[in-house]
Amino acid sequence: MTDIDYKKVTGMVHSTESFGSVDGPGIRFIIFLQGCKLRCQYCHNPDTWEMVSNKATERTVEDVLKEALNFRHFWGKNGGITVSGGEAMLQIDFLIALFTEAKKLGIHTTLDTCGFAYRPTPEYHEILDKLLAVTDLVLLDLKEIDPEQHKVVTRQPNTNILKFAHYLSDKGIPVWIRHVLVPGLTDIDEHLIELGKFVKTLKNVDKFEILPYHTMGEFKWRELGIPYPLEGVKPPTRERVQNAKDLMETESYTEYMNRMAKV
Ligand code: SF4
Repeated sequence: MTDIDYKKVTGMVHSTESFGSVDGPGIRFIIFLQGCKLRCQYCHNPDTWEMVSNKATERTVEDVLKEALNFRHFWGKNGGITVSGGEAMLQIDFLIALFTEAKKLGIHTTLDTCGFAYRPTPEYHEILDKLLAVTDLVLLDLKEIDPEQHKVVTRQPNTNILKFAHYLSDKGIPVWIRHVLVPGLTDIDEHLIELGKFVKTLKNVDKFEILPYHTMGEFKWRELGIPYPLEGVKPPTRERVQNAKDLMETESYTEYMNRMAKV
C-alpha cells in the first residue's frame, strides 16, 4: 500500500454536510459513505444501504478533502472531519487514505461506525491498525447489548461489534459510545443495565450518549417504497431518556429492582 498515491484513492460517497455539530467535537465536515449491511429499524439513512447506488458518487480523497478544506475556518480548535454512513468501515481502504492525508494537514479525524465490519483476525487487524493510527476518535453505535434483540433491531448479530469495542479499548483509541433510544425496541431496562455494565469494562470511553429516536428519516423509507417498521412510534419522553441514563449507572439489575421496590 506504500506505493499507492492516497490522494487518488476513490470511495463511493453518498453525500457531505458542511456544518455537522453532533458527530464529534466542534463543528465538523461530515462525509457519508455509501453501503451498510445492517437494516436498523430506525435508520434515517436507508438510501445509503446499497453498496451500488445512483445516489452515490465515486470521489477521490483529494476531491473530498478539497471540499472539506473550504470550511476549515469554521472548525476552530476542536472541529475537523467525520466519516459516517451507511457503514464507513466497509470502505476501509478509502478511510485509511482519507484520514492519512487529513492527518498530514493537521485535521482532526473522527470515524462514526456501528463496528459490524470488524473481524477478529490477524489479517483484518493489520489493515484496521493502519486506520486506527490515523483516527483521533471513534463514535461507536451500540444498538443493543442483548444478542437476540440486536438481531430484531438490525437483522444482524452483535458478536463482532462487541469484540470491536474491546479491541478499541485495548488499543486505547478514544471512543464515544452512542445508543439510540427507541420506545419498545431499544428502551428495555434490563438491557440498558447490561449495556452500562459492558461500557464500564471499556477503558477508553470519553463520552456516553443516549440519542433519542426521531422520525426525521421516515420520509426516505416512503420514497424508497420500503415499509417503515416503526410506523406510529413516537420519540421517547424526557423521563424515559433520563431513565436510560440512570439505568446505565445502575450497578446491577438486582440493585435496580430493589430500588424500584422501595419507591
Ligand atoms: S448502521 Fe446506520 S446506516 Fe446502517 S442501517 Fe443502521 S442506522 Fe442505518
